Amino acid sequence: MTTRMSRFLQVLFFGAFLIFVAAIIWTAESDHRQTRTDEPSYGEFMQKVEAGDVREVTLYVSSGAYELDGEYSRPMNRRFHLAVFKEAAPDITRQLREKGVLIKVKESPVGKSWLGLIVVAVPILLLVGFFILLERRLRQDVGGSRALTIRTGIGYDLHRLEAGRKLIVGGIELEFDKGPAGHSDGDVVAHALCDALLGAAGLGDIGTHFPDTDPKWKGADSMIFLQHARKLLDEKKLAIGHVDAVVILERPKLGPHFPKMREALGRALGVEPAKIHLKAKTNEGVDAVGRGEAIAAYVVATLVAR
Ligand code: MG
Repeated sequence: MTTRMSRFLQVLFFGAFLIFVAAIIWTAESDHRQTRTDEPSYGEFMQKVEAGDVREVTLYVSSGAYELDGEYSRPMNRRFHLAVFKEAAPDITRQLREKGVLIKVKESPVGKSWLGLIVVAVPILLLVGFFILLERRLRQDVGGSRALTIRTGIGYDLHRLEAGRKLIVGGIELEFDKGPAGHSDGDVVAHALCDALLGAAGLGDIGTHFPDTDPKWKGADSMIFLQHARKLLDEKKLAIGHVDAVVILERPKLGPHFPKMREALGRALGVEPAKIHLKAKTNEGVDAVGRGEAIAAYVVATLVAR
């Protein structure tokens, strides 16, 4: 079943449920208004019979108690209903006959109890159907590509550092004698962040959207990638919950520049800087990053469905 179909049926079931309940309430209410029905005790009823105030009686016979339905002659247009023990029935009918009251004897209305059953069962079935569909749809959401309540994505990037390139990290330029080689400005934080966002949204990676074979992106400001990712998230009705990043670089020290980086990244993504968390590490002199030949970043992003 398609999601649209399931949603349609869900609305239909719930709508039918509401209409049914409203109809029951309305019917009960108008019945109540049209005819006033007394529910006298046995004693009260017999007093009425004695006084000659009962016009007609229908006796409903079932295996257990008998039910009496009928109309008074005084007061006019007033009905009554009472249940009596089987044993009391002969006595009542005798007294009614003596008073010349018309008595009809009928089988207990089976149809009425069926109707009662339907009135109870149909709304329950409609509601059950609604919840089954709701549960199915939620499960589809988990398995399918539709937005979950919370989604997480991871991103990683590394660029070689070369002399004569600008060192751009987290959307800002830092004073240094080397910078990342790359097709764009080589901002590892922006690239890893972009991948984390696209991953969380199930939209591939940065290469899918900005192939490095396209001359359009040569020397590009990586904030453009983030702005584009933001647009894609918007279209999928996803919002950024939180971003956490680790930047690995031997030199220079990044910590003092974090507030500016968070501001720049937040601006590109349209979120407050508080949602972006940055951490810096060195590689303890080990490997290419440790020797100062490269810069790397890991980012985890959490998205929430809007
Ligand atoms: Mg890159």
